Amino acid sequence: MTLFKIIYWIGIITEMAIRAPLQKTWKTSAKTEQRVSPTERILLGLLALFMFFLPLIYATTNWLDFADYSLPTWAGWLGVVLLIGALVVFWRAHKDLKSNWSPTLEIFADHTLITNGIYGYIRHPMYASQWLWVLAQILLLPNWLAGPPNLIFFVAFYILRVRAEEQMMLDKFGEAYRKYMQKTGRVLPKF
Ligand code: SAH
Repeated sequence: MTLFKIIYWIGIITEMAIRAPLQKTWKTSAKTEQRVSPTERILLGLLALFMFFLPLIYATTNWLDFADYSLPTWAGWLGVVLLIGALVVFWRAHKDLKSNWSPTLEIFADHTLITNGIYGYIRHPMYASQWLWVLAQILLLPNWLAGPPNLIFFVAFYILRVRAEEQMMLDKFGEAYRKYMQKTGRVLPKF
């Protein structure tokens, strides 16, 4: 349904607006460490392709129509609910992480360990938001090329990134991060 495609794009524009201010400060902040593997670079490229470019082709042309599948309308509305959840978590994570945000694995000269706000419950709210997003995408864009592939590449990215990120944080913050890990879950709160 066209409405769900439009809602998907409203979601993309909202995420870009939430991220824009931090993207600006990130460009000029002094970095003391960067850990990006070639595999991660490739996965980040694939994620951009399957989150943005294929949905764009799907929304603006009929080239991908051969790969459509059909879903009941309620599935689309479930997608809307998941997308809203993804955006709320995404917004809150940016509000709490502030200028410690980076698109890759980096440590800044003035890096501080954030353990408050949404980071007081989970260590990876932005990735939690992305989990909701990739599920929403499957329901909002019922097309084998524009919908599900993002989930597959995100799973690969998540496994690689979370392990490397937590190792980097342990190397930088040591005991403080170890304690923080005990109190929080990765993408779901610890009870
Ligand atoms: N994994 C987090 C952050 C993603 S942005 C999330 O999903 O919300 C990636 C950058 O965030 C990394 O370069 C790392 O330096 C930084 N980072 C991750 N957790 C952090 C924390 N608790 N405090 C400060 N910086 C953090």
